[in-house]
Amino acid sequence: MNTFQFVSTRGDTQKVDAPQAVFQGLAPDGGLFVPERLPNLGLDLAQIHKTSYRDLTRKILKPWLPGYTSDAIDSVVSNGYGSGTFDYPELTPIKSFGTRHFIELFHGPTLAFKDLALSLLPHLLVEGRHLMGISKNTIILAATSGDTGSAALTGFANVPETQIIVFYPNKGISPIQKKQMTCQTGGNIFVCAVDGNFDDAQTLVKNLFSSEKMKAHLAECNGSFSTANSMNIGRLVPQMVYYFHAYGQLVKCGAIPAGTPVNIVVPSGNFGNILASWYAREAGLPVNKFIAASNKNRALTDFFSTGTYDANRDFHRTCSPSMDILVSSNLERLVYHLSGNDSKLIAKLMADLKKNRRYEVPQELKTILQHDFSAGFADDAECCREIGAYYEKTGYVMDPHTAVASRVLSKYREKTGDHTPALIAATASPFKFTSTVFQALFGDCGGKSDFELIHELSHQTGLKIPHQIDGIEKWRPLHSDLCHPTDAAKYVRNAISRGEH
Ligand SMILES: *Cc1c(COP(=O)(O)O)cnc(C)c1O
Repeated sequence: MNTFQFVSTRGDTQKVDAPQAVFQGLAPDGGLFVPERLPNLGLDLAQIHKTSYRDLTRKILKPWLPGYTSDAIDSVVSNGYGSGTFDYPELTPIKSFGTRHFIELFHGPTLAFKDLALSLLPHLLVEGRHLMGISKNTIILAATSGDTGSAALTGFANVPETQIIVFYPNKGISPIQKKQMTCQTGGNIFVCAVDGNFDDAQTLVKNLFSSEKMKAHLAECNGSFSTANSMNIGRLVPQMVYYFHAYGQLVKCGAIPAGTPVNIVVPSGNFGNILASWYAREAGLPVNKFIAASNKNRALTDFFSTGTYDANRDFHRTCSPSMDILVSSNLERLVYHLSGNDSKLIAKLMADLKKNRRYEVPQELKTILQHDFSAGFADDAECCREIGAYYEKTGYVMDPHTAVASRVLSKYREKTGDHTPALIAATASPFKFTSTVFQALFGDCGGKSDFELIHELSHQTGLKIPHQIDGIEKWRPLHSDLCHPTDAAKYVRNAISRGEH
């Protein structure tokens, strides 16, 4: 296979290989690193199920991340997906009900899909630094809508020559998500609540990256920034694996003959997970439609129907907080690829977004986007009805994000009559959002806290409490920092100097 490099979506950055792209996180011109061409992996779809999840990961990462040696990838996978990290040997088991197939992506350390990529990212970074001969302190910046934070902290805790700083919205994440983050141990981690929402946190991270003052400060202390958000290409590549793996499972159990297309439904926020499934299709996975599901923050839904991305809208706090996002960063990558790598266009659209909080793609591009993608939304009431109704029908318990996807799939099927077998990304454990789930299933929570409801939910449904959060009510918070977005630079400088000791 011919090798390739990574370029910036905005065209004003030197090409780099994969270790550099992971190391830098964001391109210096403010764009996102993308492969200059999309490799087809030529996997034999009838045979995928004979390959273990870990071997499949090696098979996909090696050609997709040129610049890493084969040995380096082997060690990334063995260290990141060591035994005991995930609850199942197949990492992401499938639960099928008719033509709906839930890929359960939440059996890792923090009970959300981000564990699949964030268990590998620290190792990609360390191996990459080693290959490049760079000895520098890497400061990982991450904004989180709830789940990236704990998954990134768990992955990066105590990784040598690395500090991690996580910013989370002060209001809006679930009590269990908050506890997971604020109780994380590790000598190199910093957790800070931000007065604002996820978009404020993501914007402050992007601004820190481009700040000249910060660059000078980093140079002084031999440090450099990278990011654990899905803006980092190292997040997206591991996420391609579970779509191939799930497809193999469907072939194995006879749900589909090898080679037939499926639909893929993803509860979407920053658009990273669904983009990984699109990369999987470019790499050879047969997909008919990608269905992006949103909650009441429906900027994506409107974008796919009108061709205008408009972040000038009210922000809603919903019961699926990890999707409470108005600016979906990874859309930039999709639009880049579908425009035929038109970096001039992307630079212009992103300048529009920055200036006016909106951009509009050309008509031909809108048609191309609509050919592959469909998008829909479900509000909190629909989401809760879906959790309750699906449990009644099947006994299956969904978390609110998965329920949004399931409801949006029903609406899509009603509207289009397209009943192609669907893979639904089940992105979080219902035990992370107990008050919403309990209420949807059994009505009143009787004034019980999210922590008490962990036991109630287990008792009433017969589901086992995940060992990852067993006893969480007794964990002692270690982090209580809070800052305003305008003080973030100061916070980061302090964290860096504390990390040097
Ligand atoms: C992060 C997250 C999402 C959104 O994923 P994106 O890749 O940002 O689109 C959906 N559900 C859960 C549970 C999440 O943690």
